[in-house]
Amino acid sequence: MTRFAQPAPELADPYESDPVLTGWLDRLLGPDGHAAAKDRLATLAADVLGPLRDAHHDAENNPPRLVRYDGWGRRVDRVETSPGWETQRVAAARHAIVALPYLPEARRTWGSGVRTVQQALLHIYGPESATFTCPVAMADGAAALLSRPEIDPAVQERWLTRLISTDPDVAITSGQWMTESQGGSDISRSTTTARPDEGTRTWRLTGEKWFCSAIDSAMAVALARPAGAADGSRTLVPFLVPRDQPGVRLHRLKDKLGTRPVPTAEVALRDAEAVPLGDPGEPGLRRMMTLVVITRLHNAANSAAGMARGLAYCRDYATRRTVAGGRLADNPLHRATLGALEVDLAGAFALAAHAFDLLGRVELTGDRPAADRLRLVAPLAKLLTGKLAVASASEYVECFGGAGFVEDTGLPRLLRDAQVLPIWEGTTNVLSVDVLRALARGEGLAAVPSDVRDAAAAAAADPASPAVLAGARQLALAIGTSLVADLLDEHAAATGAERAAVHARLWRRARVERRDIATEAAAL
Ligand SMILES: Cc1cc2nc3c(=O)[nH]c(=O)nc-3n(C[C@H](O)[C@H](O)[C@H](O)COP(=O)(O)OP(=O)(O)OC[C@H]3O[C@@H](n4cnc5c(N)ncnc54)[C@H](O)[C@@H]3O)c2cc1C
Repeated sequence: MTRFAQPAPELADPYESDPVLTGWLDRLLGPDGHAAAKDRLATLAADVLGPLRDAHHDAENNPPRLVRYDGWGRRVDRVETSPGWETQRVAAARHAIVALPYLPEARRTWGSGVRTVQQALLHIYGPESATFTCPVAMADGAAALLSRPEIDPAVQERWLTRLISTDPDVAITSGQWMTESQGGSDISRSTTTARPDEGTRTWRLTGEKWFCSAIDSAMAVALARPAGAADGSRTLVPFLVPRDQPGVRLHRLKDKLGTRPVPTAEVALRDAEAVPLGDPGEPGLRRMMTLVVITRLHNAANSAAGMARGLAYCRDYATRRTVAGGRLADNPLHRATLGALEVDLAGAFALAAHAFDLLGRVELTGDRPAADRLRLVAPLAKLLTGKLAVASASEYVECFGGAGFVEDTGLPRLLRDAQVLPIWEGTTNVLSVDVLRALARGEGLAAVPSDVRDAAAAAAADPASPAVLAGARQLALAIGTSLVADLLDEHAAATGAERAAVHARLWRRARVERRDIATEAAAL
């Protein structure tokens, strides 16, 4: 008797075969703008289909290792990573995944749409980058922070130029060290201190950082409290810390549920040399938010990207797997399952695309209404897409039956890796409280859709009451869900595309009105 071997799912070109992505690019960039991006996106997609997926598997199978001492007992704290991780690093630099929005030529070509093109790069590159998207996000955040006018030009010359280099021999990435063991969300409890090094422009940081991802990066942006600064979170100041110095010691690498190729360390700072980013005498949390907004947007883009890639594999697999006497792809119930997932993907992409569009307008044209909108859209995008990504990943794994649960299919990591999306850079609850804070200050109100405006106003009137706080997550999800419904409606009307109209109709029905969409979803 021959042993049946199920044909594995295959991946089609992740750019050409993604109508959600190409539909948004046509609309946001216009036909000429999209045409100008085509070569760049097609070249990246070809690399993903070729060497990058192999590199991804290599990095997944060979997680990083901390070598604390050399053979002679000298403390080295060296992190060894796989060749696949290095391949991903080189690709990120060459394809300008971080650099694009900072390149003068790209800015001239796409104007504020340059962030939209960057989102497209992330969408294609991210899902099988062995989570190199993590250092990419933090490097972009650090680059945005270092681009601020108050940053010392000498610091910009030395560090910013390398963060945004497309030459793999020059390019560096960055970490961000905010979380301490006693406070991740509540950074007001930070105990890392900073003191000036007499007679120099250098400062010295001492403290403990609990979650330092991409610890193999050449630098990090760390939050610390300058000596004499008041308590609280606002008075914390971002410092640039070169990684390779005796004052930075690694206790250990985290043994994580997912994102295993990313080396995440617990770090001791002992009089570590650091450079203040901006005036250390001025409260610095606002400056740090430049970085945090960027990483939150990357999180949203990566959530949508993971959803698209997972669905692509599920759809392909459904054409290869037989159930109940026919192709899984022809089974009405399975089709309805995949169709509903496609609607969620369309919603997540719309919100991430809106956020990147706003960011581009803020950065390139100083658009103040866009900045105000982004204040609310950034936390909403991160929280809603993170939740959708985890729920979808669970379904994706289930779509493969038992194979989805078996490590060497490569599928279980879809779920493991998704779970970080709602945790880091603000959990769902923390972001919901942030949304409430913005509403109470009257920020971002233009982004609140009309059907949830009364609920938002009522919460904003009494944001500290236990009842309002208890309902903050529901409110944030409701605002985000309605916003997506409006974005999908606008997109469908602007493009006239039939599938976009179905996405808009089914999102509103399923997510806003909470009605069943199975029959129409099965037709997608
Ligand atoms: C894979 C991974 C990589 C990471 N990389 C980094 C990194 O590179 N740099 C870095 O600085 N950090 C990093 N983090 C840390 C991450 O940002 C924190 O874990 C996260 O912010 C939550 O903080 P915490 O762990 O202290 O949890 P806590 O803040 O203790 O949260 C515990 C629970 O309390 C809830 N909660 C907290 N505050 C509130 C509130 N006000 N209202 C209601 N509920 C609340 C949370 O939602 C959560 O459910 C990483 C985390 C992970 C998992």
